[in-house]
Amino acid sequence: MSVRVRFAPSPTGALHIGGIRTALYNYLFARHHGGTFILRIEDTDQTRYVPGAEAYIINALKWVGLLPDEGQEFGGNFGPYRQSDRKALYQQYAHELVQRGHAYYAFDTPEALDARRASEENFTCNFRTRESLDNSLVSGIATAEARIQSGAPFVVRLKVMPGREIIVDDLIRGRVVFQSSELDDKVLLKADGMPTYHLANIVDDHLMEITHVIRGEEWLPSTAHHVLLYEGFGWSDTMPRFSHLPLILKPVGNGKLSKRDGAQFGMPVFPLAWKGETAQDSFDGFDNTGFLPEAVVNFLALLGWHPGGDQEIFNMEELIAAFSLDHISKGGARFDYEKAKWFNQKYIQSADNAHLAELIAPYIAEKGYDVCKEYVEGAVALMKERVTFLPDFVEQGYYLFEGVRQYDDETLQKKWSAQAAENFTALIPVVEAQEPFEAQPLEEAVKAFMQERGIKPGDLLPLLRIALAGTMKGPAVFDMAALLGREEMVQRLRALMQHAG
Ligand code: GLU
Repeated sequence: MSVRVRFAPSPTGALHIGGIRTALYNYLFARHHGGTFILRIEDTDQTRYVPGAEAYIINALKWVGLLPDEGQEFGGNFGPYRQSDRKALYQQYAHELVQRGHAYYAFDTPEALDARRASEENFTCNFRTRESLDNSLVSGIATAEARIQSGAPFVVRLKVMPGREIIVDDLIRGRVVFQSSELDDKVLLKADGMPTYHLANIVDDHLMEITHVIRGEEWLPSTAHHVLLYEGFGWSDTMPRFSHLPLILKPVGNGKLSKRDGAQFGMPVFPLAWKGETAQDSFDGFDNTGFLPEAVVNFLALLGWHPGGDQEIFNMEELIAAFSLDHISKGGARFDYEKAKWFNQKYIQSADNAHLAELIAPYIAEKGYDVCKEYVEGAVALMKERVTFLPDFVEQGYYLFEGVRQYDDETLQKKWSAQAAENFTALIPVVEAQEPFEAQPLEEAVKAFMQERGIKPGDLLPLLRIALAGTMKGPAVFDMAALLGREEMVQRLRALMQHAG
């Protein structure tokens, strides 16, 4: 039987980065087994529907390179892949489950249930209370159906039988046992005719022939109800295997990583930037922070999974080859943002210069720098060992694209002197005459110049660096000089003389 897995997000806003990890593990599992990765949009909770969220999910998957084989916007033979387009189907199955004796029609109004909750501690609809409520178990099916015919609002509830154990053999957590007496009679079909998550999810997993459910730990408690649904429909023999992924924890201390932690810790917790209705509801993403999607994938893959050994850098092919559910940890995985940055540095360092030049083109355009592709590639080559994020190329390395904005005056105070001014004046004709104007010959010429005049390198080279970049940090002096070109270098030597003199 070939593996079929699904990523089933609800479009309730920007997709949390943990959702991308879930998608990634599903994707890796499918690819590893030569199976199928499906995207299903679970939008049955209309009160939580957020416009734009579905497009966001799809764009986020595209950005990290997790393209579904089937799914909403990707096609396939098991569609539609958006649950709101499958409404009639769920209604049919809800009625079928009532006919099979595993569910019932309930007519209690929200007010009536609230009244019970107010007067009885821990009131819930279950095997203890259902006989005292208004439903088809009490009235008989025929009466209930007549009421439905005449337009009475109703819900369908799962009929949970007490006194048995429900066993989930989780591929990550092992055997998890639930007591059916502790479970409530979950609503399956709501009064508005929409299914709840539980019903839609199980019907779809069955119809879409899902073999493995890989999802967040928060869904583990629901799984007991899901097992009962499979049993009720008579689908137990094709029930998927369950795997519940560990939580993603805050960078410090305990607790689940939340949306708000982005602002709290100054880091993105969403794959793509999200523009909500208010500033408070708008978030930065890994994309506009300047991460490479490959780095994000590598970072997320190791957030709760490791195949053993010391390797940390894995490209997608390597992840697919190495991935298995049994190396996923049970315990929560700390969201170590410093590690994410480290991955980004590594991926930037090993990225092709032409590719990096393309990626930073928007930042260059935003600044209005008028530079050709070759120049950007040269700048990228000089800076790639030094940056963490893509915008750093134009932020930290701005002096490769425009003149020095600020000089390191502290160093200048120590190093600049009348002698230094004299050295600069004498050096300018050497620079002007240098041919070819390339890093190594230029370096040799400057060294010869220093030797001839008895200038110590420490008295000239730091000043040259400050002339070109304003700062003591940055790429090698002669590499910068070669990129900037003869004319620009001379201009910058003069500019420093004016500034310091
Ligand atoms: N719609 C659920 C979610 O938003 C899906 C959970 C599952 O994968 O079963 O995460």
